[in-house]
Amino acid sequence: MAAARYNSRSPAVKRLLREAAELHEPTYNYYAQPLEENLFEWHFTIRGPEDTVFENGIYHGRIVLPPEYPMKPPNVIFMTPNGRFELHKKICLSISGYHPETWRPSWSIRTALLAMIGFMPTHGNGAIGSLDYTDQERSVLTKRSVDFKCKTCGATKDLLLDKSDDQGEEQEEIKKYSSQLTTSKPSGNDSSEQATDKNDNETAASPDEESSEALPVATPEETNPLADGKIEENAEEDVEVVEEDVVEISRPRRENDFASFFLMWFLILAISFIIYRRLNKSYGIDLVQLADQYLTSLMP
Ligand SMILES: [Zn+2]
Repeated sequence: MAAARYNSRSPAVKRLLREAAELHEPTYNYYAQPLEENLFEWHFTIRGPEDTVFENGIYHGRIVLPPEYPMKPPNVIFMTPNGRFELHKKICLSISGYHPETWRPSWSIRTALLAMIGFMPTHGNGAIGSLDYTDQERSVLTKRSVDFKCKTCGATKDLLLDKSDDQGEEQEEIKKYSSQLTTSKPSGNDSSEQATDKNDNETAASPDEESSEALPVATPEETNPLADGKIEENAEEDVEVVEEDVVEISRPRRENDFASFFLMWFLILAISFIIYRRLNKSYGIDLVQLADQYLTSLMP
């Protein structure tokens, strides 16, 4: 990938180059890299989630990133037939329980991939690009999916690791992200709405169920980045306060040093003067006279 072709000062370019480096190695569950000729288009491969009809499936697709990324979410487009997502159609990701346009810049392509894995067994609920195939139809597609070949990437089943150490951790993340992210709802009349019509009766309660489930899950996580931000802000403030304190402490300290030095010499002189006056008064000793006599005695 020729990074020089892109404006390296663009936040999107910087961010995507960093993510490409971070995702350079495939894992058990996912792999994604930008195309040689376009940093804003990636190809991804994900493994079907365990204990579902998609288990042992390997799914390939494209991720198209908006120029405003990471301020705007990536679009995910499936290429491997799977029965859950329509092929060659943009699936826009957003945070569940929030306006579809909301997307946290702290989310990443990796987050999106983990969420997509978690979404596979969920109901489409009329989201753009959703399909509600039967389990039978899906399992047929799952078996076929391992033979999928991408024109650019080749046999997609070879792109993922057979196993990896952080497999368990990834499973946890898949659950976490798929409960917080959602695919956006259709904005107008969309062909995908027809697909959910037959589903409306059996899942009549599910949109409410989902939103009531999704909100409490999403809320703590949604507030977490904010809380993190506050902690960071506070931490910065603390540092500033500490610095200010140091400055404030050190400045009076220097003045104090000078004042005590002056006071010390003033006291020494004052005490000397008092002793001199005392000697002079009590014993009539005149130090000046004594000194004068001493000096004259030295003279030849
Ligand atoms: Zn590909």
